[in-house]
Amino acid sequence: MATKGSIGVTTNNIFPVIKQFLYSDHEIFLRELVSNAVDATQKLKTLASAGEFKESTEGLTVSVTLDKEAGTLTVSDHGIGMTAEDVDKYINQIAFSGAEEFLNKYKDSANAIIGHFGLGFYSAFMVSKKVEIRSLSYKEGAQAVSWTCDGSPEYEMNECDKTERGTDIILYIDDDEKEYLEQSRINSLLNKYCRFLPVPIIFGKEQEWKDGKYVDTDKDKVINDVEPLWTRKPTELKDEDYLKFYRAIQPGQEDPLFWIHLNVDFPFTLTGILYFPKIKNNLDIRKDRIQLYCNQVYVTDSVEGVVPDFLMLLQGVIDSPDIPLNVSRSYLQADRNVKKISTYITKKVASRLEEIAKNDAQEFEKKWNDIKIFIEYGMLSDEKFCEQAMKFALLENTDGKFFKLDDYKKLIEANQTDKDGNLIYLYATDREAQYTHIKAASDKGYDVLMMNGQLDVPFVGMLEQKNEKSRFVRVDSDVIDRLIVKENAREVELTQDEKDVATTLFQSQMPSIDKSNFMVSFAALTAEDQPIVVTQSEYMRRMKEMAQFQPGMSFYGELPDSYMLTLNTEHELIKRVIDDAVKATEAELKPINEDIKATNNVINALRDLKKDDKDLTDEQKKDLEENEKKVSELRDKRNAVITAYAAGQDVVKQLIDIALLGNGLLKGESLNTFLKRSVSLLK
Ligand code: ADP
Repeated sequence: MATKGSIGVTTNNIFPVIKQFLYSDHEIFLRELVSNAVDATQKLKTLASAGEFKESTEGLTVSVTLDKEAGTLTVSDHGIGMTAEDVDKYINQIAFSGAEEFLNKYKDSANAIIGHFGLGFYSAFMVSKKVEIRSLSYKEGAQAVSWTCDGSPEYEMNECDKTERGTDIILYIDDDEKEYLEQSRINSLLNKYCRFLPVPIIFGKEQEWKDGKYVDTDKDKVINDVEPLWTRKPTELKDEDYLKFYRAIQPGQEDPLFWIHLNVDFPFTLTGILYFPKIKNNLDIRKDRIQLYCNQVYVTDSVEGVVPDFLMLLQGVIDSPDIPLNVSRSYLQADRNVKKISTYITKKVASRLEEIAKNDAQEFEKKWNDIKIFIEYGMLSDEKFCEQAMKFALLENTDGKFFKLDDYKKLIEANQTDKDGNLIYLYATDREAQYTHIKAASDKGYDVLMMNGQLDVPFVGMLEQKNEKSRFVRVDSDVIDRLIVKENAREVELTQDEKDVATTLFQSQMPSIDKSNFMVSFAALTAEDQPIVVTQSEYMRRMKEMAQFQPGMSFYGELPDSYMLTLNTEHELIKRVIDDAVKATEAELKPINEDIKATNNVINALRDLKKDDKDLTDEQKKDLEENEKKVSELRDKRNAVITAYAAGQDVVKQLIDIALLGNGLLKGESLNTFLKRSVSLLK
């Protein structure tokens, strides 16, 4: 007996709506139908294990078949099937309310609509002009039933002659959806959505190579892995299993560094495996490498919001029935469960790393330089993670030794605390280029860290913020005794006049180096230290480095590099050079210096008048201006005297060039001049 009726929806005609709005994600119909078939199979197994179904449930499969001639795609299962009442209840009565409002809101996301209404089955109408269900329920004595619907709200239900238990869903594919009759298209969709479903999915036959071509065999081809690795117990698995799985989901990649098997059932259920990939360069950084599953059904690879941002660089799978299967991205991000999941993943990743660091310190150290980008990124972007990571994050020194943050602090505390109680962490970014500075530091018994990672600059800034009274300074940012100033620091024993002479003496002989500024300063190092040390201000350099990360700081990026040329006033050569220069220019400079002093006295007296809040008279103003001009001219004159003297001092030039050479700053023409001068000095 045939039944006719109207599908129970409140909106008059849902199908045009489905078709019209769901254009973007048509392909998910296959996921929906295959998932239903898998569900029906699983339900039967559940009934069997509860003793309510007596026949064997071994070897049950789901199959997808194409019939190009008939224009059909069929999904068949041998699951619980449906009686006429079931079809009426589950297929005909689609209860929903506020349909139009909702459809308008989410018109671009088929997933959201389907999920909201539980319209999984009806997604078939996105690609079909007619859909037929043929089903025989598992219930004893059940009558097989067929149901057809052409996309209007009218359906037809009949008894039918199906003899095998289970359900066939037959789609009569729309003329403009013919792609879904193509073997290769269906193959790739099954691969995308159904690869890890828990029941074998059969599509086509295994092939073999025969007579110069591939031909079908009799053997059904199963397209999925019914027991993907993440569903198995970590204790049963070996490293090789994890690597094999990784190679399957990330073909063509180098093996990962670590993996983390997530496995939790409270307060939500979540399993998964996250891999730390080996990142060779920035090009490797892609953020679509974690796949999200819901009970082994593929949902998406846009995991923003589910996985904390810094872990988006990881690869692998996450499976949780608590993540809504059919949802839009914005919905996902707002979902409270999803937020909890994100927090959990962070915690789990941190404690796993802590565990590895503890149990296999050597291995952890070996991989540190590859994983530190993840960890520093995490520490910089996630407060909670940072707290945990403080326990296992490592610092590497220039000897290639690794230290936990606390241990390192203990190591340097005694020796590297300055007179104001600041703990000074020294670091280098280039073992070769900064060798002289590293050596100078280690000669003093100091330890120098290696900080050449992509995120080390902001990372160092963060550590400074977290640890009061500690500072990180690059080992070449000043002479070592000024980086860590001790109580008994030696004073420079030079008069101001001597300093003035020495400053001009060296400044005037600097070779010109593109985009660089040089200043001269003095330090009483030891007689064994270098005569001149070239350093680069920590502050300016950091500003410039930060400019690379923050576009708003490009102003700093364009400033010239500023270097400091520090003269070691305890060094024999420096002492002698300054001494000679002072003596040689004394007679000529004496009257000029006296003149400068006298003029300065006049200027100071005038300025004092101004200080008492009195306005200067016009005459006084003019007087001040004239005297200021005079001092500046006198200084020029003095500098000219020193410069003229300096020009003949090869030893000054040589000292400067050697210092620059030690810092890799002497290049091109300046380098050539230096080489020539060196040879002529040997004569
Ligand atoms: P959902 O799967 O989200 O419940 P669907 O529209 O996909 O929504 O399916 C509605 C119901 O129809 C299912 O819950 C199930 O009871 C029934 N159903 C669908 N497909 C099958 C099938 N292949 N075998 C048995 N029952 C099915």
